[in-house]
Amino acid sequence: MHELGIVFHIIRTVEDTGRANRIRRVSAVTLELGEVSGVVGDYLQDCWKWAAARSEMLAGAELRVETIPARTLCEACGEVYPTLPQGRICPVCGSDRTHLIQGNEMLIREIAVPDEPPDAESTSA
Ligand SMILES: [Zn+2]
Repeated sequence: MHELGIVFHIIRTVEDTGRANRIRRVSAVTLELGEVSGVVGDYLQDCWKWAAARSEMLAGAELRVETIPARTLCEACGEVYPTLPQGRICPVCGSDRTHLIQGNEMLIREIAVPDEPPDAESTSA
């Protein structure tokens, strides 16, 4: 359900952007997804296929996911370390005064359009 909500959000955003730029078809969307964003990639793809097929602009479009590695900053010693598999405890000093500085994002990085001129001959009269 979480993933489906995200997919609908992405599709709405892409459709708005597409309309603003007079794009009729989108061939692929590249999404930056943080490692600890809690989104399940496989499930996201399933939801994407289902929802994109119902969009005129996005039917058949591919969802490309780029994973952003999670990183945590330790406020006690200043160390920046990979969140996985360390978690909240700093591996250098053992402090739990840490916070995530990267890895929770969900950003549309790129919208690809089909490689065709805007007024190509239409075969679907
Ligand atoms: Zn530390």
